Amino acid sequence: MISPFLLYSDGQGNIFEDITLYATGRSGWDALPVDHADWILLPEGGSLYELPGRRGIGLDVHTGEMRLCEKGWAVAAFIPPAHTGLYLAAYETGKEAPTLPLFCYTAAGWFQNKFYVPAVRIEEDIRQESAGYDEKEIEAGAGYLLKSYPHNRLVKHLMENCCMTYHCPAARNFSLGRWECPVPVSPACNANCIGCISFQPQEETIHSTQDRLTFRPTAEEIVEFTVPHLQSAPYPIVSFGQGCEGEPLLMWETIREAILEIRKHTRRGSININTNGSKPASVAALCEAGLNSIRVSMNSARKHIYEAYYRPNNYVFEDIAESLRVVRRAGGWTSINYFVFPGMTDSPEEYEAIRKFIRGTDLTMIQWRNFNIDPDWYLGKIGSADTGEAMGVRNLMDLLRAEFPLLKFGYFNPPMERIRGNFEKDFAS
Ligand code: SF4
Repeated sequence: MISPFLLYSDGQGNIFEDITLYATGRSGWDALPVDHADWILLPEGGSLYELPGRRGIGLDVHTGEMRLCEKGWAVAAFIPPAHTGLYLAAYETGKEAPTLPLFCYTAAGWFQNKFYVPAVRIEEDIRQESAGYDEKEIEAGAGYLLKSYPHNRLVKHLMENCCMTYHCPAARNFSLGRWECPVPVSPACNANCIGCISFQPQEETIHSTQDRLTFRPTAEEIVEFTVPHLQSAPYPIVSFGQGCEGEPLLMWETIREAILEIRKHTRRGSININTNGSKPASVAALCEAGLNSIRVSMNSARKHIYEAYYRPNNYVFEDIAESLRVVRRAGGWTSINYFVFPGMTDSPEEYEAIRKFIRGTDLTMIQWRNFNIDPDWYLGKIGSADTGEAMGVRNLMDLLRAEFPLLKFGYFNPPMERIRGNFEKDFAS
């Protein structure tokens, strides 16, 4: 039976286990015991964070009582892509505690000389495995692309910023000529997400994790490198809509022009758009041009929770559902990029809402993403003072699997081979 001890940090970056306390997990505003079966080894590529101004909450190994660890700051884990966290780190936040940066804060513990986290591997595709990235090959690949496309601003942005500075896994895969190639296009956005990773207002104390694109690429610039990628890469995908831009649908005319031109040169691979789904009419035009799949990001299937987070300009929650239906009607693949927040995502109200949403959109896939945001800050900003009792993220997944047997679960946009072939087999492995 796995019962990890609580971890704490000395504030100097050193992490220790407290053998008087078992680690707990957070769901909404509550600290809870974690089922033994929910703990897995911290996967390769994961990292640990000390949480300044916060005291970890643990279970006394003798009394079973919940109490704070006064020995140091709380600790959380950043779990790598392809894994979904089942509980957040449980801690009490001090008055002076700074807002945490835009990363995910999964619970973590220490057991038999190893780090453990409550999580599941939700995706078998290995495209973002840390072991798969060779720095020398990436540098050579980036150099080759910059030489091959000397006047292409987008290749310059992707290689110099995304690949070599931000270490974006998608841009690194592009430098290695494989799998999903990112195509950011939009400097502007029509939403104002609280946890936007490409733009944070001056008055906020936290920073966006990358700078937003500053120019509008042309269709020619897009086509120049995406056609060779689709023609030569294994399991090729080109994806509009990346973390380093605003909303790609605001550039739909350029995207349409690019898709039409791409498909004149190759039928290979999937053309995907990651989007907030705000403009169904633009999505329809892209489907006509040849768009194959769409991924719509959402923190909740409940209108009031969604709009409290996205703070949309000139669109409403109903528009994102319609964008998904438009792609299904055109025979395309539809995913939601579902920001998982234990205690909110697995609340009974959210469960009812997501069932209705899946049925109402004929959705094909849920990508169970860890929500990269300070939990207290998020709940405070959306005005959620009481999160109530939750069903458990694993339980929610099992219920949806049982009710919607054709609905796929994962973490990444599927390549055409997986969309048209054997979903359980046809991917990078
Ligand atoms: S939709 Fe994307 S770019 Fe726009 S505010 Fe939200 S996170 Fe930022």
